Amino acid sequence: MMIVMKEGATEAQIAEVVERVESVGARAHVSRGEFVTVIGAVGSHDDEVAGLGLEDHPAVDRVVPILRPYKLASAQFRHGEPTVVEVEGRRIGGDHFAVIAGPCTVESRETMLEAARAMRDAGAHLLRGGAYKPRTSPYSFQGLGEAGLALLREAKEETGLPIVTEVMDVRDVERVVEVADVVQLGARNMQNYNLLTEVGRAGKPVLLKRGLAATLDELLMAAEYVLKEGNPNVILCERGIRTFESSYRFTLDIMAVPVLKELTHLPVIVDPSHAAGRRSLVEPLSLAAAAAGADGLIVEVHPNPDAAVCDGPQQLRAETFAEYLKRVEQAAELAGKVIQAGV
Ligand code: PEP
Ligand code: MN
Repeated sequence: MMIVMKEGATEAQIAEVVERVESVGARAHVSRGEFVTVIGAVGSHDDEVAGLGLEDHPAVDRVVPILRPYKLASAQFRHGEPTVVEVEGRRIGGDHFAVIAGPCTVESRETMLEAARAMRDAGAHLLRGGAYKPRTSPYSFQGLGEAGLALLREAKEETGLPIVTEVMDVRDVERVVEVADVVQLGARNMQNYNLLTEVGRAGKPVLLKRGLAATLDELLMAAEYVLKEGNPNVILCERGIRTFESSYRFTLDIMAVPVLKELTHLPVIVDPSHAAGRRSLVEPLSLAAAAAGADGLIVEVHPNPDAAVCDGPQQLRAETFAEYLKRVEQAAELAGKVIQAGV
């Protein structure tokens, strides 16, 4: 159930409605938009909330049911106003387009720092790099773990780029959020509900990747787990899904971008690298994503992809990144985005 307050409703009136919603066992989530405040009553208490007669409250404009299975993630919940996630001054969502770039994994101090400097110089907005890696084979490199986190911290100190890095296990959430400015939840963990809840509680912005075979409704329900913990900063990421096509790794579902924009207020970015699996496809997919209205990209870039520990064939060469970024930003501008400066 969603309670739309009148323009000019006071804090005391908002608090009063929140209290009444909670008095029947529902949880109230307050979303303050530019003009109106919306109170989402979540939980399975729709009948009780409807029975409160809140439409008669002098500061309530109307009470409407949210028809989708996800409530806080639905576009309706913010009255069509997009959520803009702000990370140390970089914005993702609304009119803002941001590019997260860096190597697949943190391999060594030298490579990480070299990559970070190259990303900063080229104008990337945030830096990616995995310290904990979800690998298909248990015999593949699994990431440097805590040592990798320390290197990410150093890369941020030197370049000023905020860090995006993945957490795979609830036992690591605390140490990852100490370093991460955005916590990534990987495709394989999209439906790890305990992890979603813990990351939601940790309070840092979350980058939630779509599962390999997840529908958009399932992605939004996963986002709801994070939102429900009172963390409004969720960025969704389309990264390719499994289809019958076998000439490339995954099928990048470009349609997910405009469709998600109809369904949710959350920012939507695209990962062309893991979808493609090979470098030559990364730029065309990036241009398509930007032109389709994505709020940003997360892309793998490496100073020497031929020697990369993982995902070498798909990582862009760092020396080509500045030119790539220029072209991608032109496509984003075509879709009406404002381009922000890097650091
Ligand atoms: C990644 O971004 O490092 C990654 C492993 O991606 P995904 O979870 O989408 O496979
Ligand atoms: Mn990778």
